[in-house]
Amino acid sequence: MKNEYYPFSHIICHHFYNQGGCSFCGYHSQKRTVSESPISVDQMIEHFDLFANKFFKNIKRADKLIIAPNGSWFTEIPKRLRHHIYKFINQNYISHLKYESRASLFIPEKARQELKIMYLATTDKNINVLTDKACDELTMALEEICSNHIVSFGLEVAYDTDLNRLNKRCCLDDYIKASRYVHGKGAQVCANILIAPHRIKDPVYKAFITARFGAEEMKAEEFLIMPCGPMKGTPSYDDWIKARWNPVSSTAASEIFRIIREQYPNIKIKYQDSMRIFSKHGRHGKFKRKPGRWSKKEKQKVRAKVRKISENVF
Ligand code: SF4
Repeated sequence: MKNEYYPFSHIICHHFYNQGGCSFCGYHSQKRTVSESPISVDQMIEHFDLFANKFFKNIKRADKLIIAPNGSWFTEIPKRLRHHIYKFINQNYISHLKYESRASLFIPEKARQELKIMYLATTDKNINVLTDKACDELTMALEEICSNHIVSFGLEVAYDTDLNRLNKRCCLDDYIKASRYVHGKGAQVCANILIAPHRIKDPVYKAFITARFGAEEMKAEEFLIMPCGPMKGTPSYDDWIKARWNPVSSTAASEIFRIIREQYPNIKIKYQDSMRIFSKHGRHGKFKRKPGRWSKKEKQKVRAKVRKISENVF
C-alpha cells in the first residue's frame, strides 16, 4: 500500500463468477490481493483506517484518494465502508475520490444478470430474493455518485467483438450510458485503455480508436493507459505460454501513450506499466520481456511504426 492508492482486495469481483471474468484479469487468484477467509465490515473499516493514517500526508498532497477494488465500488465495497470513506474525504477536505465500476452495473437488466450469476455460484439460498435485494441496493448506491467523484471504467478496447473475446460482458453502448449517468451526477469519468490484450487483431490501431471512443463518446476527463501483460491463472497467461500471444513492447506502449497524450491535451492521462508492477509481485510467473536492451535504432523503428498507424486514426 502506498500513496493515495488504496488497493481494496478483500472480496472477489462478482464478474469472476461468469466464466472466470475478464480473460486477462488475474486479480481473483492472487494470494496477496484476496483475503483467504471472509472478513467483517468492521475489519475492513479498521484496515482502511490503518491505511489512511499511515498515508494521510500522501493523500492530502495528492488531494485525491483512489480506491482500487477487485471489481466494482458499488457491489464489492460494503455500504458501511463506502460511507466511512465518503466521511473521511469530506472531513479531511480531500477534493477527489476515485473508484472503479463495471459499466454494466448502470444497465439494470445486465446488473441483475451479473449478480444472479454470482449468487448461483456462491450460495444455495434463495437466489431471486438475494438478487432483488442486491439490485435495490445497487440502485441506491448509484445515487451516491457526486461531484467530487471520478468513476473509472475498464473500457479496455473499443470494439464489441473484442470485448466479447475478452469475456468483458460489457458493450460500447454500456460505456456510453454509464458515462452519461456519471456526468449527469456532476462527477467525472476515467476510461481505462488496455494496450494490446491477447486475442485482439491490430492492437496498436485499436488502442488509438479506443482513446478516441473514450474522448468523443464517453467524454472522459481522465484516461488510464496500461499495456496488457499475461497474468498467472488467466487465459491470457495460457496464450502467452503457448506462444499464441506476444505482449506489446514497452517501447511501442509508451509511444502509444505519448501520441494519445499529444492528441488529447485536455484529458488527464496516466500511464501505468502494469507488467512492471505485477512482475514485482510474481503475478506474471515466468513472463519476461525480450532479454537485453533494444538498440536506439530498433526503438526508433518501433516508434515510427506506431506513429504511422496513429495517422490512420488522428
Ligand atoms: S478486469 Fe475488472 S471487471 Fe474484469 S474481472 Fe477483473 S476486476 Fe472484474
